[in-house]
Amino acid sequence: MTGSIAAFIDALPKAELHVHLEGTLEASLKMELAHRNDHPLKDSSAEAIRAGYTYHDLLSFLNLYYEGVELLRTEQDFYDLCYQYLRKVASQNVLYAEMFFDPQLHTRRGIPFATVITGITRARKAAERDFGIRSQLIMCFVREMSAESADETFTQALPYLDDIIGVGLDSYETGNPPAKFAHVFARARAAGLHVTMHCDLDQENTHEHIRQALDDLASERIDHGLNVLDRPELVARARERDIVFTICPSPNDVIRPGCGRRDLRGMLDAGLRITINSDDPGYMNSAYMTECLRSAQQTADLTRAELLAISRNAFDSAWIPDAERRQYLDALDRFAALQA
Ligand SMILES: [Zn+2]
Repeated sequence: MTGSIAAFIDALPKAELHVHLEGTLEASLKMELAHRNDHPLKDSSAEAIRAGYTYHDLLSFLNLYYEGVELLRTEQDFYDLCYQYLRKVASQNVLYAEMFFDPQLHTRRGIPFATVITGITRARKAAERDFGIRSQLIMCFVREMSAESADETFTQALPYLDDIIGVGLDSYETGNPPAKFAHVFARARAAGLHVTMHCDLDQENTHEHIRQALDDLASERIDHGLNVLDRPELVARARERDIVFTICPSPNDVIRPGCGRRDLRGMLDAGLRITINSDDPGYMNSAYMTECLRSAQQTADLTRAELLAISRNAFDSAWIPDAERRQYLDALDRFAALQA
């Protein structure tokens, strides 16, 4: 990468649309939380924790992720988690972030829904005040848990809907299609929330899952979804619906090594709209937005025009009022004009 394109990516005004707050848990914060909450850790240093981060597929990744989640207990823990992520990405010229959180991973351990969302919401406000970064929350349902549990979670969220912009679907996909959650997604849509869902890479029945997301659940975006490229009819449907795919280079490089160029170029050549995102940076070599964009640029030789288009896709498809969108797009236009 030439110095100038690295500087271009650093300064590019960015939005992130696919990051799991629980996946931003850095090893250093793990150490702090373990000490604070008197929770024994098997590793005695942040380096040792990071050295243990080996995974090769979705399930082995989720095992690591769920182990880390156990450390989050108090409102202050959730505050620190969210504040540290927003502080980090604000330093990378991320102007706006839509962040996933998984309340069921906490409520099933006896932690009240209110503890989770109050800590996160307080951190969002503090980060906006301190760093100027705006953010919103997408509540994900944990797909290996029951549809009833998702419904109960939505009911628990009702007093907090002003702090939640949309709903999503994540975690273990095998045997857990989008259709399983049709009822709770219908409730969310009726309450005025936006809808997105994960269709992770190379999952069993992935094409049917993508079809359900597109046709049956009216998903507005698809998180990952690269297997769309296997089926021309799904590509056509996604283009017709102007779907944005939130692509995450870090996990893709692990699950499908060596295919990054083919995948990214495939999406662009098919005329599909993509964004580049970090997913779970705490577990993925601390690759936040800038690192992920650099990686994608190098892998697929993305041009400046393509990087600008990717950033524009993120602002265009963000779930924000038009006046706010205009401000971000103006910032992007000013940046582009300076480069010309
Ligand atoms: Zn994800």
